[in-house]
Amino acid sequence: MEMTGGAHHDMLEGALMQLDAVAERIKLDPGIHKRLRQPQRALIVSVPTLMDDGRLDVFTGYRVQHDLTMGPTKGGIRYHPNVSLEEVTALAMLMTWKCALMGLPYGGAKGGVCCDSTQMSRAELERMTRRYTSEIIGVIGPDRDIPAPDLYTNEQVMAWMMDTYSMQTGVTSPGVVTGKPLLLGGSLGRREATGRGVYYIVKAATKERGMPFNGAKVAVQGFGNVGSVAARLLHEEDCCVIAVSDHRGGIYNPRGLDIARLLTECAKDGSISQSQDGDRISNRELLELECDILIPAATEGQIAEENADRIRAKIIAEGANGPTTPEADQILAQKGTLVIPDILANAGGVAVSYFEWVQDLQQYFWHEHEINARLSEIMTAAFQRVLSLARVERVDLRTAALMLGVSRVAEAKKLRGLYP
Ligand code: NAD
Repeated sequence: MEMTGGAHHDMLEGALMQLDAVAERIKLDPGIHKRLRQPQRALIVSVPTLMDDGRLDVFTGYRVQHDLTMGPTKGGIRYHPNVSLEEVTALAMLMTWKCALMGLPYGGAKGGVCCDSTQMSRAELERMTRRYTSEIIGVIGPDRDIPAPDLYTNEQVMAWMMDTYSMQTGVTSPGVVTGKPLLLGGSLGRREATGRGVYYIVKAATKERGMPFNGAKVAVQGFGNVGSVAARLLHEEDCCVIAVSDHRGGIYNPRGLDIARLLTECAKDGSISQSQDGDRISNRELLELECDILIPAATEGQIAEENADRIRAKIIAEGANGPTTPEADQILAQKGTLVIPDILANAGGVAVSYFEWVQDLQQYFWHEHEINARLSEIMTAAFQRVLSLARVERVDLRTAALMLGVSRVAEAKKLRGLYP
């Protein structure tokens, strides 16, 4: 596979290194190991899009399905200038381990379009989304591969995907995507599921560490779907959220920020950067603040070899996918920082996506309290499973989580055997 940008190359290398290390630890069958190192399918498509000024732009889109052993694949779609085949492949692999760890009947996938969606109009985004969907239509579907929102995609993008798929197949198919608007078969609680899952995990982790939850000082990087919901729920439960940030920078108040006000400002201005609620800080400074809990909920590779030593949080709950590099992981482990890995900490999103898909297939919709109760149960049970294995094997939580995920997929592959 051709490698392009450095960071994405590193991310895929990192994902493969993690798999190799776990394979050795669990004595993974060498044939299955080889199969799991490669995605089962990777599709690259051209996405010609008419721009508002009459120009035609051609974007590159991807959909990678890492493993289809246990069911259809599942994973988000991101619109970002960094999207590449390597990045999407690494993220698809992470999704496989995440779904397996959580006991969901899915393999992992990921997709995206390399574009700067912040500079595009709504009409341009719609045209690009529809063309991208029709280019990948042969590999998606309610029983094939089910996309969901990720970085810079949202309910509206999912609605356009669902409509394009439904119009082309001639059947209204809500189950082809999750994270849709409620009116089109979306699930109550899906919008906030990832952030809510992070919140349940943070609560369980403070308990495990014997740290007080009320009043715990929290810093959150990224104020989008994941970060803003985690910040709000923690703030509502009397944690002291001292800093939040978005791509323009952060805001810091040691006495605690008013998250409800920041959400209103963000909805109005599209950013928290105009807020007067505290002092301006950079994203780098936010990560290094003195706090109990740090939640990276933006992009990958934020905690790396250069800054890991300066991280002062006691617990890091990875809301984002891949925010900590393998080198940083080692430094943090030596310092005794408890890192709750992405495949566990942010699995609330795919858990409620699964609930949404089940509701769509049955055309029977659940109450929000049922969804949140099931989410809480699935997250805390997974946390306990990971914690117990980490204790028995004397490994960090990431290694334990990967051991559980990879073993489950390997077991399923063994049972199915090799076709033909
Ligand atoms: P989003 O687009 O809703 O929000 C992203 C936020 O990060 C925005 O506030 C943006 O300004 C900020 N940001 C972007 N680049 C940044 C940078 N370099 N430094 C600081 N902030 C930056 O995206 P999201 O859905 O909240 O996803 C965030 C992360 O969580 C991603 O890594 C995604 O893969 C992961 N994730 C999302 C879900 C989900 O359900 N949405 C589920 C699991 C994991």
